[in-house]
Amino acid sequence: MSSGMVYFVGAGPGDVDLITIKGKRALQQADVVIFDRLINPFLLTDIKDDAKLIYCGKQPCKHTLRQEDIQREILIHARKGKTVVRLKGGDPAVFGRVGEEAELLAEHQIDYEIIPGITAGIAATMYSGVPITHRKHSKSFAVVTGHGSRDDGTPNINWNHLAKGVETIVFYMGIKHLKTITTELMKNGKAKETAVLVVQWGTYSKQRTVDGSLATIANKVEQANITNPAIIIVGDVVKLREKLAWFDNRVLSGKSFLIPSKEDTNKELVTSLKKHGADVFEHNLLTERDPLPEEIFEQLKLVSSKRQQLILLSPRSVFTFLKALGEQGLDLRKIHSSILSKDEAVQSVLQMVGIQSRLVDDVLLHQPMLVGGDLEIENVRVDGAQTAKELILSFSKVAQKDSEAFNRLLDEQHVNTLLFTTRKDVSQFLKFLELTNSSKEKVVEQVTIFCIGKEASLLLEENNIPVDRYIETANVTELIEDYQEVAVLAKES
Ligand code: SAH
Repeated sequence: MSSGMVYFVGAGPGDVDLITIKGKRALQQADVVIFDRLINPFLLTDIKDDAKLIYCGKQPCKHTLRQEDIQREILIHARKGKTVVRLKGGDPAVFGRVGEEAELLAEHQIDYEIIPGITAGIAATMYSGVPITHRKHSKSFAVVTGHGSRDDGTPNINWNHLAKGVETIVFYMGIKHLKTITTELMKNGKAKETAVLVVQWGTYSKQRTVDGSLATIANKVEQANITNPAIIIVGDVVKLREKLAWFDNRVLSGKSFLIPSKEDTNKELVTSLKKHGADVFEHNLLTERDPLPEEIFEQLKLVSSKRQQLILLSPRSVFTFLKALGEQGLDLRKIHSSILSKDEAVQSVLQMVGIQSRLVDDVLLHQPMLVGGDLEIENVRVDGAQTAKELILSFSKVAQKDSEAFNRLLDEQHVNTLLFTTRKDVSQFLKFLELTNSSKEKVVEQVTIFCIGKEASLLLEENNIPVDRYIETANVTELIEDYQEVAVLAKES
C-alpha cells in the first residue's frame, strides 16, 4: 500500500482568518488531524465530517501526549495511507518542533509538506499596534524562547549578545521567568527604562496587554495575573502602540459570540459585530444523515398505496422525498397520495421537477402527512394539521469535529456568549446538547445567553434556559447599547 501524506500546517496565532489558504486546503483534505492546544478550535469545524481528531495539547501541569507519542501517531496514520495534518499554533517552525517531527518522516521515507503560518511574535505584536520593525525605532528583531533549559529552570541564553546585538526582542513562553529575563537584560546593558509590552491571547478578541519598562513589567504582569500564552516584547518600538493600537480598543473587544447556525440572513449582523471588535463563530453544530431504509420504508409504502395528503415542508424536503422514493424502488407516478406545498417556495421547487401542487392553505385537510427533514429541528407546524402523521426524511447527528470544537471553544473561554437569532437556532442547539449528552446547566453557567427576537426567547424559556440579554431585532447599535447599559448599571450598584 502506498504511504500517505503529512502536512505540517501553521494555524496562525488565534484569529481564524490568519491561517493560509494552502493550510486551509490541506486541512479540508485531512483524514486525520493532530492538533495542539494553542490552535483556535473553530478551525476544526471546517474539516471532513468523518476526519479523526487527535488532541495533543499540553495543558499546564497535565501532559496529554508526549512528543514520542505524537510522532508515533503521525507515522502510524501516514503508513496506513492517510492524509494527516499536524496542526500547530502560529508557525510550525517557531518553537514548534517541526524539525524533529519531519526528520522522523524523512527517515521513514514518508512524503510531507510544511506550510508556514503567522507566528505569534509577528501577529500579536501587530494586533497590539506594534510594528516589529520600524525605520526609526527598530532595525532588528529576534525571537527567543523564555522556556528554561538550565538545571534551575531558567533559560540558557547568551544575554550579553542578545542585550547588545538586537533592538527588539520577542520572548515566547517567558512569563514564568519574566523576572529573570528583565534582570538579565538590564545586567547586560539594556537601559532599565526600555519599554516592554506583554500580550496575552494575541489576535483573539480577548487579547490583553500590559505595558511597562524593564524595571516595572514583572510586577505589573503579576498584578494583572497574565499567564501563558503570552509574548513579551522588549524594545522602544512598543511605545508606538499608544498611537497605532487598532484592535483591542474597540467597543466589542473582549466579546465573543457563538451562533449555532450559519444563515445568510445573519451576514450583516456578523460583519458588524466583527467590525466592532468581537470574535464571531457561526456554525451549524448538527450534520444531517440520511434515514436508514428500515426507518422510512413502511411509511413510504403507505404513501404509495393509500390516499393521503403529503405536505412537503421545505424545498429541501422535495429532493429528499424523491430520492427516498426512488431508492425504495417506488414510482412517483403510481403513488395514490396527493402532494401539497407548505408555501410558495416549495411549490416552485416542485414545479421545477414537473409536479403541480396546491398550497396547503387552499385545501381542506383530511388525512395529512407532514413530510420534511428532521421535523424536530425544522420546527414547522401547519395550521389544521395537528393530527398529521410525520415522514421524517433526514436525521441530525453530531460530527466528532463539531463536538470537539464546541467543547474546546467553551473550555478555553474563546466564547463568552451564545447568540440565538431564530427559533431554529434554539432547537438545533438543544438537539446538539442532547446528542452529545452535554449538561445544559454546565453550558449555561459558562456563557451569557443573548437572544434576538421573541420567537427564539420563548423557546429558550420553555426549555429552562434563562435569557441574560434580549433585543427585539438584529441591530448591532442596539446590541452595543444593551452591553453599555449593563456596564453602567454595574458601575452604579
Ligand atoms: N509555533 C508558535 C509558538 C509555540 S510556543 C508560534 O509560531 O506562534 C508557545 C508560545 O507561543 C506561548 O507560550 C506564547 O509565548 C506564544 N503564543 C502562541 N500563541 C500566542 C498568542 N495568541 N498570543 C500571545 N502569545 C502566543
